[in-house]
Amino acid sequence: VLAVTILGNNSAIPAFDRHPTAQVVTLDDHLFLIDCGEGTQTQMNKYKIRRSRINHIFISHLHGDHYFGLIGLVTSMGLLGRTQDLNLYGPGRLIDIFNLQLQVADTNLSFKLIFHPLENEGILVKENRYQVSCFRVFHRIECWGFIFRQIRPPRRVNADNARLAGIPAAFYDHLKWGEDYETQDGRHITNVSVTDPAPKPKSYAYSADTMYNPEVALKVKDVDMLYHETTYLKDLEERATKRYHCTTVQAAAIAKAAEVKQLLIGHFSSKYERLDDFEKETREVFPNSYLALEGVSYIVQ
Ligand SMILES: [Zn+2]
Ligand SMILES: [Zn+2]
Repeated sequence: VLAVTILGNNSAIPAFDRHPTAQVVTLDDHLFLIDCGEGTQTQMNKYKIRRSRINHIFISHLHGDHYFGLIGLVTSMGLLGRTQDLNLYGPGRLIDIFNLQLQVADTNLSFKLIFHPLENEGILVKENRYQVSCFRVFHRIECWGFIFRQIRPPRRVNADNARLAGIPAAFYDHLKWGEDYETQDGRHITNVSVTDPAPKPKSYAYSADTMYNPEVALKVKDVDMLYHETTYLKDLEERATKRYHCTTVQAAAIAKAAEVKQLLIGHFSSKYERLDDFEKETREVFPNSYLALEGVSYIVQ
């Protein structure tokens, strides 16, 4: 399964019980954190996200609403006795800020933090079952988007056939990944006889803070689900452009041009209390659009 859980959907200042940007991507049994605005840890507690299961953190850019929660989260991981490596991806200067914070506090982390500076567009993580890549977006400062792709989704176990063949449920996880089964009396059960083909691999793109630029559509072409910022409603297009942000209809135009299946919108300006118009305006251009609401998990279909 590929899904994203929203922990923060606001821009700049926390407002109306909305928090600055953070999202958790679930890919099979892996968790990835994208951005870490102030309050991310508290949101993780609230929505029962296990910090210990996060091994990769991606920071899009160095505006505070995207990383002011990072030192708190990582320090807590240390206090909780974490031992496994933590991979951090972000603009190069992030590590200077981070190391200074650790140094002045005389903090030694209980685990290895591996920093990967973002320099070129391309693949950041590649495993058998998924990969994560980055692309540049168009903001006032250096800023990156991320794409999560399943490479080989698990096959579906045909429970009736598997049971008839005498395969214990404990082996189903192996079946999902294509293994055959040997019974105790030496019969060989082929994988295809007890599983159905895997669904098509899914993909999710997170386009971070950006002004409208049709190039973004090329970078996220054909993903199943796109998250795109909509800081402002459509009447404030001029302000959006001046501040390197987007409006509802601009985000929808990107989704349409990229031919994605579903659009999630967020990074709402703190000036708006109600969000209904965001969804309404976006849907006028791209009907399959949804507000990214905090605490909600969106499954990539
Ligand atoms: Zn922002
Ligand atoms: Zn920004």
